[in-house]
Amino acid sequence: MQGKDFQGNKFLGIYVHVPFCAHRCAFCSFFQQPPRKQDLHMYVETLAGDICLQPIDREVDTIYFGGGTPSILSSEHIGRIGEILPIGSQLQEFSIECSPQTVTAEKMEAFRRIGATRVTLGVQSFDGKTQEIIGRRQTLEQVFRAYDTIRSCGFENVGIDLIFAIPGQTIQSWERDLETALSLLPEHISTYNLTFEGNSELNGRIRRGEMAALSADAEADFFVKTRKILAQHGYNHYEVSNFSKPGFESIHNVHTWEMQEWVGYGPAASSQFRGMRFTNVPSLSLWREGIIRGAHRRCDFQKLSEEILVQDSLIFGLRMAKGINLRKLESRFPSFHREKYDILFNSLVDNKLATIDGDNFHLTEDGLLLSDGIALEILSQPD
Ligand code: SF4
Repeated sequence: MQGKDFQGNKFLGIYVHVPFCAHRCAFCSFFQQPPRKQDLHMYVETLAGDICLQPIDREVDTIYFGGGTPSILSSEHIGRIGEILPIGSQLQEFSIECSPQTVTAEKMEAFRRIGATRVTLGVQSFDGKTQEIIGRRQTLEQVFRAYDTIRSCGFENVGIDLIFAIPGQTIQSWERDLETALSLLPEHISTYNLTFEGNSELNGRIRRGEMAALSADAEADFFVKTRKILAQHGYNHYEVSNFSKPGFESIHNVHTWEMQEWVGYGPAASSQFRGMRFTNVPSLSLWREGIIRGAHRRCDFQKLSEEILVQDSLIFGLRMAKGINLRKLESRFPSFHREKYDILFNSLVDNKLATIDGDNFHLTEDGLLLSDGIALEILSQPD
C-alpha cells in the first residue's frame, strides 16, 4: 500500500468496536448490548462486510479492539476476525480490552494467534463496596485468575484500568486499589476520573439527587495521590489518565491524541479518516442493514478543517507529558501561528502551569490537573 493521508502520514490505525457486555456498568453510557449467541455470530460476519466496504489505502500500524467487551467473543469468532483484518508487516501494536469474567486461556491464545500484543484488563476497582456502586460484578479471584491467564498466554504488555473519585470511595481504599494493581506488576495503568454521562445509571442517580459527585478538590486529591504512588513505582505519567513503564505507552492512543488517522469498524465505532470524522450508527441492526445494502449508515459527520485539527492537536497534545512541539505544529499546519496563543501560553508559564523549552511547550503536573479548563481556554482564543 502506497497511500498517505492528506497530511502526509503513511500509516493508519484501526479501531474495532465489539458492542457486547454481559451486564451494564452503572457508569456506562457506551453503546453495548447483551451477548445473544445469534447476535455475536451475525456481528462477526457483518464485520467482514464492514471491512470490505471501507477499503484502506495505507499500512496499518496499530489495531485496537474496544467495547463493549472484546473478550466476550469465542475463540472461533476471534480466529474468523483474524482472517479478515488487514494486518500487514508494519503493525506495531494490537491491543484488546478484556473484562476479568470473560478471560480464558483459549480466547487469549486465539488473540495471540491473530497477532494481539497488548491487553488491558478493565478492573476499575478491587474494593467490594466500590464495585457495588459502579455495578461491577467481578470477584477478586476472577481478576487475579484473568491476569495470570493473560500472562501465561505470553502477553508481555498488560495494562490495568481503574476508576477514582467514585461516590463513597475513600482515599484509603483508592490507595489500596493502586497497591493491589501494582502488586500485579502491569506495564501500564490507566486511572480515570469518574464522569457522569448520558444515560448511565449513576448519572440518573445524580440527577435525581440520590447521590452526590465528589467536589473538584476531592477529585484533585485522588489525582495527586495517584501520580505520587505510581511515580514511586517507576511509572511515567505520560498522559493525564495514563501511566506506563518506560516504552509501554499505548501507541494507538498516542497516535489518536496526535490527531493521526484511524478507521473504526463495528456499530458505534468512530473514525478519523481522509479528513473527516464520522461514527457508525450505534445500532447492531441498522449497522448490519447498511453493510448488506452496500452503504455504511453513519452519523456525526465533521469535515476536519485545519483550524479544528490545530485546536485538537493543542488540546490533546497538552494532555500528554511530552506536550507539543510548536515548530512541528507550524510545519504540519501552515495556518497555525503560535503568536495567536502567546497571551494564554505566557500566562500558563507565569502561573507555573506550563513550561516552554525552545519549541517544546508542555503542562506541568499542576497544569495537567487543570487540563480540561485549559482546553476551554484554547477553544475560546479569538482569531
Ligand atoms: S464493560 Fe465497558 S462497555 Fe461494558 S458496560 Fe461496562 S463500561 Fe460499559
